[in-house]
Amino acid sequence: MAPAPSCSRPTGPGGRARTTEREGSTLNLGAHALYRGGPGGRVLADLGIVPSGSPPPLARYRGSRDGELHQLPTGPASLLRTTLLGTRSKVRLARLLSGLPRMDPAALAGTSVRGWLDGLDLRPDAESVVLALLRLGTYCPDVDSFGADAAMTQLQSAASGGVLYLHGGWSQLTDALGAASEVRPSSPVRAIEPAAGRFEVRTDDGPIVAGQVVVAAGLPAAARALLPEPPEWADLGAPVTAVCLDLGVRRVPSPGYVLGIDAPLYATTQGPPARQAPEGQAVVGVLRYGARSAELDRPELDAQRRLCGVADDDVVFERFLASMTVAGSFPRAEAGGMRGRPMTADTGTPGIHLAGDWVGPHGLLADGALASGQDAGRRALRALEQTGRTV
Ligand SMILES: Cc1cc2nc3c(=O)[nH]c(=O)nc-3n(C[C@H](O)[C@H](O)[C@H](O)COP(=O)(O)OP(=O)(O)OC[C@H]3O[C@@H](n4cnc5c(N)ncnc54)[C@H](O)[C@@H]3O)c2cc1C
Repeated sequence: MAPAPSCSRPTGPGGRARTTEREGSTLNLGAHALYRGGPGGRVLADLGIVPSGSPPPLARYRGSRDGELHQLPTGPASLLRTTLLGTRSKVRLARLLSGLPRMDPAALAGTSVRGWLDGLDLRPDAESVVLALLRLGTYCPDVDSFGADAAMTQLQSAASGGVLYLHGGWSQLTDALGAASEVRPSSPVRAIEPAAGRFEVRTDDGPIVAGQVVVAAGLPAAARALLPEPPEWADLGAPVTAVCLDLGVRRVPSPGYVLGIDAPLYATTQGPPARQAPEGQAVVGVLRYGARSAELDRPELDAQRRLCGVADDDVVFERFLASMTVAGSFPRAEAGGMRGRPMTADTGTPGIHLAGDWVGPHGLLADGALASGQDAGRRALRALEQTGRTV
């Protein structure tokens, strides 16, 4: 295995959606999949941005249990074939999945994933498959607190539109979004101060005067640090974390896609299908849902890598990210699920708006960031129009 170079070049701004180039390959910050049927897709369409990429080959997905591989049920044919489930569980799961599009997530607001699953009365083999699919769609391993309304919405979104792996990585999106705005990547905001009916946004390059401000600082703590008044958010709980191993691989692995059924692990070949690696090579993302410590997590990632078909001497380069924040917080059942998240206006100061993957009633992950970003931007524009100002 070649030693990993310690530095890699970000191809542009983009926070956690940024892309890095390495030895002719493009790497997202951990495996990334764009949900086509979610609110984020609609925001991109409104902005005239058409994501270019390919869906992962679901027929090649395997589920790992006790170190053995089985067909992962991702549709009727694979459900019939899989050796992960007994016959009664297949029938039960088929009924559950076919009824999914007609279910009303709002009816589950305030119920945890655990409470929802208990009500379904699934056998253990079926429940472990549903939990693995939920981890895949939401990144959230904490079923006791996670709101079932959010989980169901995400399952519906995955089932209706599927996902895309993006050609060249997610910089495709951040470049398109950045092209429509002026970005100052090395000018951190230090404070936002109300001044004569407007705001002074203090940056290292000097102040910017603004009539309205959208704070999209990524994580709740970063946003809170910039707000002039302490916001009245309910307890947001812990962020959603993951451990990631991003790999350049000298040949396309087989099976290439392995979801842990008895452990919160996943390995996926992002490119191909996305154009992210030189011809004949591959970019593979391995991750564990929920970061603990590098000592505990790294061996599990290496084992999952091997299960997905990447041997030690297939690895051209690797990047180990011991603890990544995937989402600033997750919708908690006890706070009311999606409707319990802070809203874009919940900043304690009129004229300042919030955006992020932990904000607003719509969408998890990038879907939430895009939906709240659009809502915050529209509110700011409306307020400017009302005052007759342009900034
Ligand atoms: C490993 C991993 C896997 C993921 N997989 C998926 C996936 O498969 N599908 C999906 O939809 N989403 C996924 N996500 C989540 C997705 O990347 C995020 O939801 C999205 O990028 C959040 O965008 P954001 O703009 O709200 O926050 P960020 O991307 O965090 O951007 C916030 C930016 O604000 C900057 N900032 C903070 N404070 C200041 C300040 N004071 N001044 C100036 N700048 C500041 C930060 O540096 C950062 O650049 C994943 C995330 C990770 C980490």
